[in-house]
Amino acid sequence: MTDTQSSTGDRTFAPPEAIASRANVGPAVYEEAAADRLAFWAEQAGRLSWDRQWDEVLDWSNPPFAKWFVGGRLNVAYNCVDRHVEAGHGEQVAYHWEGEPGDTRTINYAQLKDEVSKAANALTELGVQAGDRVAIYLPMIPEAIISMLACARIGAVHMVVFGGFSADALASRLDDAGAVLVITADGGYRRGAPSALKPAVDDAVSRSPGVRNVLVVKRTEQDVEWTEGRDLWWDDVVGRQSPEHTCEFFDAEHPLYIMYTSGTTAKPKGILHTSGGYLTQVSFTHWASFDLKPDEDVFWTAADVGWVTGHSYIVYGPLSNRATSVMYEGTPETPHRGRWWEIVQKYGVTILYTAPTVIRTFMKWGEDVPAGFDLSTLRVLGSVGEPINPEAWLWYHANIGGGRCPIVDTWWQTETGGHMINPLPGVTSLVPGSAQVPFPGIKAKVVDDEGNELSDDSTGLLVLTEPWPSMLRTIWGDDDRYVDTYWSRFGKNVYFAGDGAKKDADGNIWLLGRVDDVMNVSGHRISTTEVESSLVGHPSVAEAAVVGASDPTTGQGIVAFVILRESGVDSGDELVQTLRNHVARDIGPIAKPRQIMVVQELPKTRSGKIMRRLLRDIAENRELGDVTTLTDSSVMNLIKEKLPAAP
Ligand code: ATP
Ligand code: MG
Repeated sequence: MTDTQSSTGDRTFAPPEAIASRANVGPAVYEEAAADRLAFWAEQAGRLSWDRQWDEVLDWSNPPFAKWFVGGRLNVAYNCVDRHVEAGHGEQVAYHWEGEPGDTRTINYAQLKDEVSKAANALTELGVQAGDRVAIYLPMIPEAIISMLACARIGAVHMVVFGGFSADALASRLDDAGAVLVITADGGYRRGAPSALKPAVDDAVSRSPGVRNVLVVKRTEQDVEWTEGRDLWWDDVVGRQSPEHTCEFFDAEHPLYIMYTSGTTAKPKGILHTSGGYLTQVSFTHWASFDLKPDEDVFWTAADVGWVTGHSYIVYGPLSNRATSVMYEGTPETPHRGRWWEIVQKYGVTILYTAPTVIRTFMKWGEDVPAGFDLSTLRVLGSVGEPINPEAWLWYHANIGGGRCPIVDTWWQTETGGHMINPLPGVTSLVPGSAQVPFPGIKAKVVDDEGNELSDDSTGLLVLTEPWPSMLRTIWGDDDRYVDTYWSRFGKNVYFAGDGAKKDADGNIWLLGRVDDVMNVSGHRISTTEVESSLVGHPSVAEAAVVGASDPTTGQGIVAFVILRESGVDSGDELVQTLRNHVARDIGPIAKPRQIMVVQELPKTRSGKIMRRLLRDIAENRELGDVTTLTDSSVMNLIKEKLPAAP
């Protein structure tokens, strides 16, 4: 890869010749999309198989309520499975599944078709009809994917709830979505031990009278309580079904799923996605952003299906493109810290997609761990979930990508359904830390509070100025909240993303974290992301979370929580001074943290997002807010124990 100096003095990375010369999409894609955006998306919809062609690409006559591919009919599961089998690819592996204890399952497209058909027949036998909501609360096992596709096949709306969530979190989602069925398991494996799921379901369902049945997959063989008449074993009910199922076709706007947001800033919102536009965009972005070659690549999104990234880039994107994927049940450090790299080596993974938080954890563990494995099959790397700090980008590039793999930093949200701002591996010269440019066919801007466009590096708000195919259609059951949250700040035609951003002179967009997280210190707006990246840039720091805590003199004062690298050069009290000075030198004296606390863990959501609002509660010495979407709520106690008395 050739490295050059950009005008800002940062390093940039040109697309490697090996990828650019045979990339799925070349530079012309931007011009084509700009020439006629709707024709461009119609062309991408044409990559799918439709039972009935649409009459109109977009109906935006009642903004912000969009209809895409109006009048078209398709079946999402047919597009993901059957058509590949019909085209003679039944033997191709769809998933190499790896259980945490080391057990494996290999599922090809023909087998997936049979399993999905059986599950679809079972759902129908249980009285589930098109439009009904089905909750899926499973570990990372193939039945999670089979269940999602079975719902799609019969037109039921799935609602996947992350297996790490509590009974309360599950109960509130069952209630909000009005679920009629819960698909769960006895348990799953996490950190080397079976972890029960069924008790949380029993608790949640006892409060949800709308749930008629609980379908239970046997995974860990743990003892479970059983409610006769309500609870059913997956093996009994699905096992005896026919693998023949003739699918029906549904309207392009038929609801596909509800996914609740992470709740980093507010109460989780039930985001509704529909069929035709959603599949069009996730399929095309998966193919273009990762340069996916169905006959050659082994694709791995190392994330949970209970997060939107899992929906779009473990399930719908890869399957619609006939990819061969890896799916892994467990945690990266079980039974050892090289588990991911062992999996890459074992299956010859060529494309890896994960979150910055995991990359920083690997940085903390040191580069010797991945160095012990053969990672030479990798050719493209991806990042999602939060801004990737330049230091983490460079580490990922050098130590995982061997200096040869482009890193595709993808900005998008549960609400956007698919990629929105990201480089393309065969086209874009990469700038570490920036998500760079809107995806072809997407229109994004950075604006000030009055909605005027900014392109001079000043901090503003990210907005999307045209509807896109995989956009959310509403918040489940709450159209008003949909309009208020996303389409009010700058009128009904402009989507307010809730993220701070800036655009540099080269046209690259830099994401600066949630608007709610932008700090105001003596009248200066400072982004949490920039201070965090500065801290992570210090050789002793692996991870940092920064919040603005109210301060009597400056409005807000910067409080940082840091996790140190295990091979750190420094530690102790002196380090705190060093780090404060490091940030002051790096960004300016105004950004010098008032307080820095060294901690072992940070509170995170299932997608690895730091819950800054909880750290703000701590920094301001308040009662903690809603913790139901934390992966591990004991982390907050660990942090509180370490705290000095609040200043
Ligand atoms: P809630 O809306 O309930 O607070 P959430 O927004 O954290 O939840 P998600 O939809 O999973 O839930 O996250 C989307 C957000 O993640 C984006 O708005 C952005 O802040 C951040 N994000 C995702 N990918 C990137 C990226 N590549 N660069 C910068 N930020 C990113
Ligand atoms: Mg959000």
